[in-house]
Amino acid sequence: MIPPIASNFVAGETPSTALAHVDDLNQQGIGGIVNLLGEHYDNPTEADEDTLEYVRLAEMIDARGADACISVKPSQLGLDVSEELFRENLGRIIDAGECFVWIDMEDHTTTDATLDAFEHYTRETDGNVGVCVQANLKRTGEDLQRLAALPGKVRLVKGAYNEPAEIAYTDKQTVNAVYRDMLAYAFEAFDGGVGVGSHDPEMVQHARELYEQHGTDYEVQMLTGVRERAQTDLAADGVTVYQYVPYGSKWFSYFYRRVRERKENLGFAVRAIVSG
Ligand code: FAD
Repeated sequence: MIPPIASNFVAGETPSTALAHVDDLNQQGIGGIVNLLGEHYDNPTEADEDTLEYVRLAEMIDARGADACISVKPSQLGLDVSEELFRENLGRIIDAGECFVWIDMEDHTTTDATLDAFEHYTRETDGNVGVCVQANLKRTGEDLQRLAALPGKVRLVKGAYNEPAEIAYTDKQTVNAVYRDMLAYAFEAFDGGVGVGSHDPEMVQHARELYEQHGTDYEVQMLTGVRERAQTDLAADGVTVYQYVPYGSKWFSYFYRRVRERKENLGFAVRAIVSG
């Protein structure tokens, strides 16, 4: 059982609880990006188990007709075992249903393998796959040029991993400035659509202005339990909003990460419980 303090950020432990949460979101005009919690498997068995669960999830999403897609982590599908295993498992999930599949981006040692797999499958499916890229990595400007030539969507985030200063911008102000510039480039150069993976009101406003200028399809993506009022307000205002919905038995480390990156999250969770 997930304690109430963590359940603010996690949609239960099973595909059914996650999809029930997505049903609620859909009623508010918000889509769901469903993620089974799990990462860094060093054996093929665990990667296979999570792949199978994603296959079932894709089938359930299609059967329900939900406005939902899936987001997977490369190391959850076996990238720490081998690139081949990751690619094979990703292909099984993409083939399982009609639903759109996002690939999360992990630390910099995985970037090449992740982008290569994205390129392969987004060409094969004519853009039914998306990939996340991180503004804090110095290489991302070049990666965006490569991605602009491909079908599929790109989610731009600031970057959640502590990376070495030789390859990454490490101060927040620089990352914010780079994020703004990359968002502007993406709205100009991408046809497939831009995912704005940020809770930052400034970046969301910047995206809205870029949309006015370029008319590029975009969606704002935020996490379950974070700025949910803003999510519903944006959706009511006509912005496409998707909520990233994590679920599963490995909820503890995810919850711990949310609290570590922002201590106020603990306060938000407590207030949500106290105010019912
Ligand atoms: P920050 O830069 O942390 O904060 C900027 C402002 O946003 C704050 O001043 C505040 O106004 C507002 N804000 C931020 N957090 C909160 C909060 N909890 N409550 C209220 N206001 C808040 N990272 C990866 O490396 N790989 C991924 O695949 C990946 N996928 C992601 C998918 C989604 C949908 C999202 C939302 C994030 C993802 N991230 C990923 C994480 C991302 O890289 C950032 O670490 C994270 O989003 C924090 O940056 P931010 O832009 O949201 O806001």
